[in-house]
Amino acid sequence: MQIGRWNHQGSNSSGANKQRGRRNSDDLRPEDFAQYAIPARGGRSGGRRGFGERRGAFNRPRRATRGGFRAFGETEHEIQKFINRAPTQVEEEAPYEPKHRFGDFPFLPKLKENIEKKGYDLPTPIQDQTIPEILAGRDVVGLAETGSGKTAAFLLPLIQKVMLLPGERVLIMAPTRELAVQIEQELASFAKGLGFRGMVAVGGANIMPQIKQLKWDPTFVIGTPGRLKDLMERKALDLSNFGTVVLDEADRMLDMGFIDDMRFILGKMRAERHTLFFSATMGKDIEALIGDFLKEPVTISVKKRETSANVDQDVIRIGGADKFEKLTELLQDRDFTRTLVFVRTKHGAERLAKMLSRERIFADSIHGDKSHNARLRALEAFKRGKVQVLVATDVAARGLDIPEVSHVINYDLPGTYEDYVHRIGRTGRASAKGKALTFVD
Ligand code: ADP
Ligand code: MG
Repeated sequence: MQIGRWNHQGSNSSGANKQRGRRNSDDLRPEDFAQYAIPARGGRSGGRRGFGERRGAFNRPRRATRGGFRAFGETEHEIQKFINRAPTQVEEEAPYEPKHRFGDFPFLPKLKENIEKKGYDLPTPIQDQTIPEILAGRDVVGLAETGSGKTAAFLLPLIQKVMLLPGERVLIMAPTRELAVQIEQELASFAKGLGFRGMVAVGGANIMPQIKQLKWDPTFVIGTPGRLKDLMERKALDLSNFGTVVLDEADRMLDMGFIDDMRFILGKMRAERHTLFFSATMGKDIEALIGDFLKEPVTISVKKRETSANVDQDVIRIGGADKFEKLTELLQDRDFTRTLVFVRTKHGAERLAKMLSRERIFADSIHGDKSHNARLRALEAFKRGKVQVLVATDVAARGLDIPEVSHVINYDLPGTYEDYVHRIGRTGRASAKGKALTFVD
């Protein structure tokens, strides 16, 4: 069935073996790492097998378990193992066939009308699978990439809920002001003519109008954790009527340092509530949060593949002082138009950017010791092409919206498979081709 942009990309099998004969490099593919992941230890999330978690090549252990992933590439022996394991064949992945059309969900007629007016016909995979669970009142952990339609996945069943339970109030937490505004706009379009309202409560805006709006008792409050907490402390926001909470982009909220505020807010809500949790990634902090604040959640993962077929992955065997020489040599190549170089430490990032500059390569760095403004400046210069190379640490790169890049170079090995996926996901976006090179000692 053709469902437009929601099709799964077919796995790209071409190129899987083309470099098998090379001694110093080989393709680095997700399945090569799979053996380094710690197997799942009993699902505390009680979830089901998510879409896309196929048996076989791309099937990795459930992410919703404590423990995370073991660092890979610790010994020469292990590295040897993973680069020699280029697969002989990669299956084609079938396009997703939704089980429902929007018309099949038991939405009230007025809501159905609004959905139709928006032009939604087929649900995206995350919508297809989470909407029935949310309608059934279950706690849900939804794992899906940006752009997969998470907003409607939680908004639609929650709109239905407040229509059926008029006293119900919904709190939605999002990491940024822009996201909160986007969610509110989506809500407004779905809730047109239904007789309730939502409001946005974010920092960086005057708090007084928000306090005023809260007095009108909005049905949906959509905000960033910091401002929500502020409003609670001023007694402008009373969560005792809120029986439903959504944490949207929970991973980004953690990256942005909202963990304490999130815990504060959730801690003030009543224990018997409906909690929905959305994230693009699953890490230890996230698991802890889920364990503490969700009740027997259903986990739905529609992360179809860990790494994009558009990213050509390769390993370069090089170590010590030779790494720098190799890097500068690579950067002479005209194809390296916008290269993101990952290193392990803040100090290393600073130093490498300076060393590159000394070689007359336009480079800057982003890392945790730089101020937010300095990081934004470096990023802006990178976006505009004033800087060819941006040297980054994992954490600094995560908090920011990095533009499409031609190459990702793992100058230092990533600590975990998850970091590897994050790093190389910075290239090969949309339909662009990208290349990821990993320096292996
Ligand atoms: P996410 O939150 O996962 O990043 P969004 O909810 O922002 O994704 O959705 C991305 C875009 O796709 C939005 O413009 C949204 O209106 C659109 N969209 C979502 N679901 C559908 C659907 N079922 N049919 C058509 N367009 C959709
Ligand atoms: Mg979203």
